[in-house]
Amino acid sequence: MNDRRDFFKKLGILGLTSVVTKLNSQTISVENILDKISGNSFVLPQLPYAYNALEPFIDEETMRIHHLKHHKAYVDKLNSISSTKFNFEISDQAKCNELKLSNAESTIIKNNLGGHVNHSLFWELLKPNPKADINQPNAKLLDAITKQFGTYESFKKQFSETATKHFGSGWCWLINERGILKIVTTSNQDNPYMPKEISGCHSTSILLALDVWEHAYYLKYQNKRVDYITNWWNIVNWEKSEALYLNSL
Ligand code: MN
Repeated sequence: MNDRRDFFKKLGILGLTSVVTKLNSQTISVENILDKISGNSFVLPQLPYAYNALEPFIDEETMRIHHLKHHKAYVDKLNSISSTKFNFEISDQAKCNELKLSNAESTIIKNNLGGHVNHSLFWELLKPNPKADINQPNAKLLDAITKQFGTYESFKKQFSETATKHFGSGWCWLINERGILKIVTTSNQDNPYMPKEISGCHSTSILLALDVWEHAYYLKYQNKRVDYITNWWNIVNWEKSEALYLNSL
């Protein structure tokens, strides 16, 4: 019980309490993240499809390395941190802020927990066995996107441009920020679940996640991030995305 309370406290410091509660709401199956709370280790989630299921848009080797090396490294790092490190005694918000900015351990946990959460989301938001027909959002999400961005095509263009232009490693997201759909990027393994002062944006409702770290595409696409992004649209799991959208209303 103490483990559970302390872990939530730690997540709270990092602004990640909402990650756990949100992701535990059946729309995304990353409940393994909760294992740590029960005093167990973090667990690398299995992919909900085969490593070659996203071919030809993301190749099997990239998927294997991305999942079994990169994502696993974040999980291993979290597990290497003694559970006592999660037990900060936080009495007020000012102290939280101070800790966020100054504690190196907190940064390590933020980066690796961010990496674990982001990749868990990313896998779930990819659709295996892509068909030749057009891949686009279901009716309700399509409606919301059209309302916000004019047309689906203009949304795609804006999202692709934002993801392409993001400098260095990071992520591009579609978020629902209090009823307004927004395209935002974060650096490294930050995400919109984190406080705005950390990640530069904030929402408890992520609808799309695109990894723009080079490790996500370099083997197949080399430096051509734009080609990777163009192909990613074919394997977006719009069913999951719409479930997240409906959950955010
Ligand atoms: Mn990645």
